[in-house]
Amino acid sequence: MTSKTPTQDNSQALRIVIAGGGTAGWMAANLLATHWSADNNALRPVHITLVESPEIGIIGVGEGSTPTLKRFFNDLGIAESIWMPACNATYKVSIRFDDWSPGSGINTYSHPFISQLDTFSERPFDVNCYTRRLGLDVNTTPGDFLFNGWLARYRRSPVTPANFPFRVEYGYHFDSALLGQFLKSHAARLGVNYMAGNISSVQRHPNGDIAGLQTAEGNIITGDFFIDCTGFKSLLLQQTLKVPFKSFANNLYNDRAVVCPTPALSDTPVETRSTALSNGWAWQIPLTNRTGNGYVYSSHFIDDERAATELCKHLQINEASADLRTLTMNVGQVARHWSGNCLALGLSQGFIEPLEATALHLVQTSVEQFIDTVNDGGLGEQQQHRYNQLVSKRFERVRDYIVAHYKLNTRSDSEYWQANRHNEYLSESLLQILDVWYRRGDLRAEIKRQQLDSHFGSTSWHCLLAGYGAFPALGANQPGQGDLYTEKELEAFFSGCLMNFSPPGYAPRNTE
Ligand SMILES: Cc1cc2nc3c(=O)[nH]c(=O)nc-3n(C[C@H](O)[C@H](O)[C@H](O)COP(=O)(O)OP(=O)(O)OC[C@H]3O[C@@H](n4cnc5c(N)ncnc54)[C@H](O)[C@@H]3O)c2cc1C
Repeated sequence: MTSKTPTQDNSQALRIVIAGGGTAGWMAANLLATHWSADNNALRPVHITLVESPEIGIIGVGEGSTPTLKRFFNDLGIAESIWMPACNATYKVSIRFDDWSPGSGINTYSHPFISQLDTFSERPFDVNCYTRRLGLDVNTTPGDFLFNGWLARYRRSPVTPANFPFRVEYGYHFDSALLGQFLKSHAARLGVNYMAGNISSVQRHPNGDIAGLQTAEGNIITGDFFIDCTGFKSLLLQQTLKVPFKSFANNLYNDRAVVCPTPALSDTPVETRSTALSNGWAWQIPLTNRTGNGYVYSSHFIDDERAATELCKHLQINEASADLRTLTMNVGQVARHWSGNCLALGLSQGFIEPLEATALHLVQTSVEQFIDTVNDGGLGEQQQHRYNQLVSKRFERVRDYIVAHYKLNTRSDSEYWQANRHNEYLSESLLQILDVWYRRGDLRAEIKRQQLDSHFGSTSWHCLLAGYGAFPALGANQPGQGDLYTEKELEAFFSGCLMNFSPPGYAPRNTE
């Protein structure tokens, strides 16, 4: 991403108003202030105001990230040793899926983040998956082939020693409320103006653009460009500008979550755990001071009370004293993420349920895309159109990857899982991926053909499909040779590499 001025023809400051101070609002404020600061922007300074209701509060979940969050903090120049302790954060190298595919004989598998070291093992993994697709019995356990799978299994911190020649990818678990507070303080240091206020109405220009935000306290906040970060209610883009919301309810059934913290785990894992339950799945996110838990489910198949009871049983805690909170989720995306002089970010722009913890990733990549698009050509309609196409596509491709988790399940304990397995609302892109896989075609070539590598790449798709055991029955004749996992001595290679990584524990970096 380049840091330069968004428009270069006006000496007056561009006034950007961000409505909402959840994680999305503060991430946007920090990135915009960093990339469009006065230092970077000799011709036209940017003046950012963030207004937030002190009463409404934030959604307060969203505690797992993808590796892109590392780039966010690098961009801001904030070391892990500063932000991680402030947010009770831990490292995340992988997501472990338990009980999603018992019918295939696989009870657990990992989806590790892909590290540079895996260039040695991705090909053997592909070949073994292909061999297994032919009915031959070879190792296709994703966590064996990918280095982060080893880090997760042996609970090693991904902090890479200075002399280790490969880059290791990882994300984080964190307390989202503390992250918001941390980003708020940092934004103040970057010169972002903060206002507490309840937006009561939105004022418009004759051409329909937003002119200002009226607060219940009697203030009017005027601006040139507005960013809607007001959460699921989307006060600006959806409520005021009437941009329609395109629901994904046809292919993603979950619309509720019940959350409940429990004490910290003694031996901190470096992965998120996602366990399939009767009508959805439960996450376990390890922080330094507590464990975040939640059950994501569909209200069409289970009611809130039964879901809360099932979560408590799963966590082995007493429901009467549990700190339970139920949330409603609006799964889908807006028809246009940027309309007129308003951009929506975070829950206002859409939400894909949290199975792969992609929400903040989508916030960050949307802001980065916005900065790049505007840097390239300003705030005009052409830029708007291009941005909307790219962001919509990103939402759809992330949705497809999540949908595949449900489509491929082999559980038979409830109508919910059967309905998911029989779901026929699949995108053309997903149908083609599954078709290539089952026809024993070249999945890597298909992912490349569809240009999906920047969303979930070929190795991630191999992890998912192999992890669910989406293979034909084993052939009657097994030559018993040709397992590249053994031939390439991957176990010896990864065990050797593992010796460079510290035992369990929490060791944030000092510098980036
Ligand atoms: C069950 C669940 C689990 C999730 N897990 C993950 C995860 O693991 N990883 C991940 O990346 N994401 C996750 N998410 C998503 C994540 O929580 C959100 O993307 C993130 O918190 C950003 O939320 P937000 O800032 O858009 O909205 P909110 O946090 O809802 O913030 C909205 C803001 O708007 C303000 N506001 C609203 N109305 C007004 C008004 N009238 N006047 C003034 N201010 C107003 C509020 O005060 C608040 O500051 C999860 C979400 C859910 C529902």
